[in-house]
Amino acid sequence: MVIVMREGASKKDIDELIALLHEVGAEAHVSQGEFRTVIGVIGDREKVMQMPLEAYAGVEKVVPIMKPYKLVSREFHEEPTVIKVRDAEIGGGHFNIIAGPCSVESEEQVLLAARAAKAAGAEFFRGGAFKPRSSPYSFQGLAEDGLKMLAAARDETGLPVVTEVLDVRDIELVSRYADVLQVGARNMQNFLMLKELGYSEMPILLKRGMSATIEEWMMAAEYILKEGNKKVILCERGIRTFETATRNTLDISSIPIVKGLSHLPIFVDPSHATGVRELVPPLCRAALAAGADGVMVEIHPNPREALCDGSQSLTIDGFGSMMEDLKGLAEYLGRK
Ligand code: PEP
Ligand code: MN
Repeated sequence: MVIVMREGASKKDIDELIALLHEVGAEAHVSQGEFRTVIGVIGDREKVMQMPLEAYAGVEKVVPIMKPYKLVSREFHEEPTVIKVRDAEIGGGHFNIIAGPCSVESEEQVLLAARAAKAAGAEFFRGGAFKPRSSPYSFQGLAEDGLKMLAAARDETGLPVVTEVLDVRDIELVSRYADVLQVGARNMQNFLMLKELGYSEMPILLKRGMSATIEEWMMAAEYILKEGNKKVILCERGIRTFETATRNTLDISSIPIVKGLSHLPIFVDPSHATGVRELVPPLCRAALAAGADGVMVEIHPNPREALCDGSQSLTIDGFGSMMEDLKGLAEYLGRK
């Protein structure tokens, strides 16, 4: 349930209420809105319901949340969450672009891609140093050497780095080099890792599992928020359907649905959703028009030689012209 405090409820009222909730063994998550404070209560429902909450000073109303996730929900936090990463802001009206190669392959490849991303107006740079590959014989990534190359690209371009953490044992290592930790589709329900990331202060880009419902995805995010880390960015990357023309089917409807359910920002990854370079620009436009907070796209200085996902990677020129188109559409839609 959430307890909505009156406008102007005092800090003393709020602290006393939290202390009472702790006494019955409940967790209290405080969300400070512009006008009022909302307290998300998680604990033994029976015990909490026995408390005469509405009679306490400063309490306006008590709203039960029937959903299996609470902190992620709009009921708990009405205003959109805005996440600051270095100089960039995610959510709250901005439309951000994360661009970069599927995998980090060499110093030269990373620098060429990062310079191109920056020149075209991307605000974040991506690249995988730990790759979740379907075949154990495929290129698995350069690990820490790759992370160092990403950090060097950030030093030159100033673009914050988004990179995947594949294993709970690598969280500390990846956090040393990255600005945003990506949880890949295959790890969306790695609950132990999600919990561990909940203790972290790093922003998390949480991809939707390829067979996950929207509700399962929201619950995955809840695992992270529940442990204290509120900086979660959702990323729709397509789901498995019977369709074979694309690698996955981009669920564009998830954007307005998630916007209604949650205050968290939502990105779209049309590269992994389609697997087809030509489909990336139209689906980026669709994501922007549908209200997404940004897109993540794969680019490569020479896609034909890419060690991973070359067929879905935009060329540097292709990325540049897509960005021009997106700027025009963003202006038309009144987005930044
Ligand atoms: C990626 O973004 O590098 C990736 C592997 O994507 P996904 O987890 O969505 O398949
Ligand atoms: Mn990829």
